[in-house]
Amino acid sequence: MKYKKTAIIFGITGQDGAYLSHFLLQKGYRVIGVTRNKSPKNLFRLKKLKVIKKIMILRGVATDLKFCKKVINSKINEIYYLAGDSSVMKSFETPDISLKSNTEGILNILQTLKQKKYKSKLFNAGSGQFYGDNKKNFYNINSKIDPQSPYGVSKAAAYWLVKIYREKYDIYCCTGVLFNHESPLRSKEFVTKKIIDTAIKIKKDRNVILRLGNVNIYRDWGWAPDYIRAIWLMMQRNKPRDFLIGSGKTHSLNDFVNEVFKYLNISKKNLKTNVSKYKRKIDLRGYKANITDTKKKLKWKPTLKFKAIIHKMINNELF
Ligand code: NDP
Repeated sequence: MKYKKTAIIFGITGQDGAYLSHFLLQKGYRVIGVTRNKSPKNLFRLKKLKVIKKIMILRGVATDLKFCKKVINSKINEIYYLAGDSSVMKSFETPDISLKSNTEGILNILQTLKQKKYKSKLFNAGSGQFYGDNKKNFYNINSKIDPQSPYGVSKAAAYWLVKIYREKYDIYCCTGVLFNHESPLRSKEFVTKKIIDTAIKIKKDRNVILRLGNVNIYRDWGWAPDYIRAIWLMMQRNKPRDFLIGSGKTHSLNDFVNEVFKYLNISKKNLKTNVSKYKRKIDLRGYKANITDTKKKLKWKPTLKFKAIIHKMINNELF
């Protein structure tokens, strides 16, 4: 089979890795994926999207420099770094894991490209979490970086490393500063998925209660497959640069819960908020992306809005 290009995805088993592999296969790529764990349970997203038999899966991790040097070669056109601990809350418990996976992993890939003089393009998954707390204003690519969590620090460090290697060593590498994006493939440890899964249980059993912490936080929520398209477009440019990838809109967690309950027609009696166990000691009140530049330069725009994303996530569980 003649492939258009070869791509390697670190973090292929995650939400974004699975959607990206599906997207790249449709574009005629040969797709190689990296995971720490090849057990069927860990590969469920790739199975769900029916891509598992069409990709090559390697066991390893980018925090191992030797592994990077083994799997990256001159024939790889595009490298996507989507691996790493993606939970802000977990990063307070295990900051070392956040730093290692989100920062050291990308550094090893950058070092491989530099030392071997490969021309592969590299995408790094950044996060709007490194801009800190700002409920009122939109962030743009020049906003002050002011992380409020070890996760934010790990993403900020990775962002700056990518910038340095791009500017000093002329490597095609770029960071997509990603804001929250959801889909039916979202991991259960994220609150959006917890809300939907528990609400569906309430629909079937009125004794179930959804318990949440502070719902008065604001996020910029988008649709994961839209963000995958933006990520790929960033890698098709002649010159690399960083972009913010978000929806440009903001909603509270309360809005999210209300829409789920309304759509499923279930009673708010089954909802308890401000439950101390789920209240986070440190959490951003809000942050949102200014995507004017991204839309213009990448000729991209999100296809699904807030409510439609929620409906898709619910329908996926019901039907
Ligand atoms: P997921 O958590 O779904 O997937 C990340 C993958 O990284 C996992 O499948 C896992 O693969 C691998 N991974 C997890 N922990 C480690 C670790 N300690 N060391 C090495 N690998 C690890 O994340 P998403 O797909 O949602 O996100 C992709 C990237 O985008 C992440 O870097 C995330 O931080 C970033 N991002 C995501 C946002 C979102 O809303 N989804 C928002 C902002 C940024 P395996 O276990 O198979 O090795």
